[in-house]
Amino acid sequence: MRGIRGKAAGVTRRVRMNRVAPEELSVPMPVPSIAANGVPLLKIAVWESGRQKNPWLWHGFSTRKGGLSRAYCADDAPGELNLGFTASGDREIVARNRQLLVEAVTGEASTPLVTLRQIHSSVLVLGASADAGRPSPCKGDGLMTDEPGVLLGVQTADCIPVLVADRKRKVVAAFHAGWRGTVKRIVEAGVGRMRLEFGCRPEDLVAAIGPGVGACCYAVGDEVLSSFESQFTYSDALFHEVYDTDPVRTRYPMLFLTQRAPGHSNIGPSLHVDLVEANRRQLLAAGLKPQSIQSTGGCTSCHRELFFSHRASQGHAGRMMSVIGIRPG
Ligand SMILES: [Zn+2]
Repeated sequence: MRGIRGKAAGVTRRVRMNRVAPEELSVPMPVPSIAANGVPLLKIAVWESGRQKNPWLWHGFSTRKGGLSRAYCADDAPGELNLGFTASGDREIVARNRQLLVEAVTGEASTPLVTLRQIHSSVLVLGASADAGRPSPCKGDGLMTDEPGVLLGVQTADCIPVLVADRKRKVVAAFHAGWRGTVKRIVEAGVGRMRLEFGCRPEDLVAAIGPGVGACCYAVGDEVLSSFESQFTYSDALFHEVYDTDPVRTRYPMLFLTQRAPGHSNIGPSLHVDLVEANRRQLLAAGLKPQSIQSTGGCTSCHRELFFSHRASQGHAGRMMSVIGIRPG
């Protein structure tokens, strides 16, 4: 293994990695549907109608639109749906926004909502209605339940939300996967725990990957690459070398030359990781069929009018929530 992070390995990586311009990685902005109470929600169309229809299932991915928060928008803008108890968010308003989301998804603002104190881990928690509204929620990054009438929610503002449902046994799960949680295999471990706790079979599972920061925008350092390389045989497929397409740089490259030795300059491609694909791979590795995995699409960093983005707003961002539950009765 010696030399894997050395210069020779660096050369190898450049040879086999995908090279692209940022535009080639960009994804279209999804179009939300509007719930009865006016809150926009992203839904998985094939879960609502068609062959994968699940009338017993509640689900939805929120956007930044349709709420009461004023902490992250211009004075004259409509209120926003911040769902996280962030430093700038008023607790009372966030609680009302959460009720709006719950009502939009279930029709009842009083449906219990279970959330987590998320810590970028692979810690999994069994959610129950008794946990709803706890002042200090459990720590973890994955929730699952077979209890009807309760919504499970994970919060994101760039990280990837993943919802999973067992169509036969009626079990639901929600996972929060940033790069650290992805490296810790939160989703793969989560499906394993669903099998253990509830006897779920991977062929009965359907999954939905929600909006997060896209490969178009997610520039990372070498430490992220080496973390993925140490965990996944398919890590090459997750990374792209993205070239700056700044016309000034392309036309006048001499202006940007540095005195540094080759390979040590800040000029050159940046490394982008595709967390949606990484989590799709984990679902496949856990045994789900490719056709059972859906994605809302959308990049939180590109489509800031629709989503909160932690990166794009230098950390001053609200949180969206992805929820799933079992309709009672
Ligand atoms: Zn983007």
